[in-house]
Amino acid sequence: RTVYVNGQYLPEEEATVSIFDRGFLMADGVYEVTSVLGGKLIDFAGHAARLERSLKELDMEKPEAFDDLLEIHRELVARNGIEEGMVYLQVTRGNPGDRDFAFPDPATTKPTLVLFTQNKPGLADNPQAQKGIKVISIEDIRWGRRDIKTVQLLYPSMGKMMAKKAGCDDAWLVEDGFVTEGTSNNTYIVKDGKIITRNLSHDILHGITRAAVLRFAKEAQMVVEERPFTIEEAQGADEAFFTSASAFVMPVVEIDGNPVKEGKVGPVASRLREIYLDESRKAGV
Ligand code: PLP
Repeated sequence: RTVYVNGQYLPEEEATVSIFDRGFLMADGVYEVTSVLGGKLIDFAGHAARLERSLKELDMEKPEAFDDLLEIHRELVARNGIEEGMVYLQVTRGNPGDRDFAFPDPATTKPTLVLFTQNKPGLADNPQAQKGIKVISIEDIRWGRRDIKTVQLLYPSMGKMMAKKAGCDDAWLVEDGFVTEGTSNNTYIVKDGKIITRNLSHDILHGITRAAVLRFAKEAQMVVEERPFTIEEAQGADEAFFTSASAFVMPVVEIDGNPVKEGKVGPVASRLREIYLDESRKAGV
């Protein structure tokens, strides 16, 4: 696999980053994951805009190649022959040459930019989308700026492991009695035809897929309500689902051992998945 690191395309075995890189020592970095369908990038502009915002919120410099990101994504997709899969991008505050809590001077320490592809044939035809997935709920003990897409992913990883141990696929995070989001996705319920999802704030990541799906839902005359909901409300809903760049729209059929309605994939989630995939393929770049 060819990867990209700081201006160079290299075989993955030859790509290196310093042990003093602040991404490695401090989780001082941000990332994006853009999916590829039919060899085209989905929602690239949205991911680039969110990356710019994440960098700004952390006072991190834009990497020199910021304006070439689309070209770099396309080049990696082409070199690695990706038809379906993902492009992972990470920017860290770089390598100041030593370990120190204070941010280094941006005049001397340049950000580190890394990109690689993940080949995932069958991403769109995921059989899990036909069956739906099971989730558990766990307490959300992450930091208070989840709107910034940082590489601090230890608690979400622990959440995935807790879900696995419980025989489930993912965990929904709960804070002050309300669902914030999933470990790596935005969460929704459907009640009496209405789509309910948590409003944007510092409490959740502003999903690029969320924005697209809500736009498509409104265009299809569906009613959307942006507000927090509880696990009990979700268990009593007609449908539940989540969205992310790599899972698209994924139905959730069981929460903490209780089926959502009859424990089957519902029509709203199925329809939104279909619309999202169709529209995304058309708009891919
Ligand atoms: N929320 C969290 C915590 C995430 O990690 C992600 C994606 O990785 C999302 C939501 C969904 O965001 P997007 O649709 O931009 O992939």
